[in-house]
Amino acid sequence: MTRKQENNEFEAIGFDADDTLWENETLFYNAQKIFNEVLGNYNDNLDQKLLKIEKQNIEYYGYGVKGFILSLIETAIKLSNKKVDNDTINTFLNLGKNMLSEPVKILPGVKSNLRMLSKNYKLILITKGDLLDQERKIESSGLSKYFTHIEIVSEKNKTTYTRILNKYKINPKKFLMVGNSLKSDILPVTEIGGKGIYIPYQLTWELEKVDYDPKSKGYVQLDNISLIRAWLEKT
Ligand SMILES: [Mg+2]
Repeated sequence: MTRKQENNEFEAIGFDADDTLWENETLFYNAQKIFNEVLGNYNDNLDQKLLKIEKQNIEYYGYGVKGFILSLIETAIKLSNKKVDNDTINTFLNLGKNMLSEPVKILPGVKSNLRMLSKNYKLILITKGDLLDQERKIESSGLSKYFTHIEIVSEKNKTTYTRILNKYKINPKKFLMVGNSLKSDILPVTEIGGKGIYIPYQLTWELEKVDYDPKSKGYVQLDNISLIRAWLEKT
């Protein structure tokens, strides 16, 4: 019997979801454009004002659309000195509902590559954000069948990854994480001894940006998901 083409270095491969398996940041980008159009009269520095409030609100609301919309409303109230009208608030609420019902757009090559990788590796989906929205996207993506485990978490840091790997009895040294955020998907994993494949998306949210040493070990950067198998074969 022929041995499966398996890279014994890894027991499991983790995948981020938003902007790794499907489009996400584009929705926020488009919503923020509308926010700018609606509130353009109030301030030239809307994006910076919003970012500051989003950053402060993470500890209250976590990541995802709901917290984003609350931050839009809070920014509007602040900038308008509490004068913002109900129509504007209503526009933001509808923006959120539209984002939360937007059909999932899976990125090119994702389905075929997950199918192939799932034959040889245990795949774990690790995503953060609103529970209900993440569940909806996972369900409607049709991709859940390729994953042995699915973890929806509120923050992706060393503690989170350690907890997940302990839970499934995976040695961090034999864990590979794939994602579009160095801050959330790659650096916390390499810091606990795992490896990372960083696949940047065309847009990166300001709060996911991080300074990093391009020479730092433990991860590689690939252009797309279709290059993972070739990388595994030569590793
Ligand atoms: Mg992501």
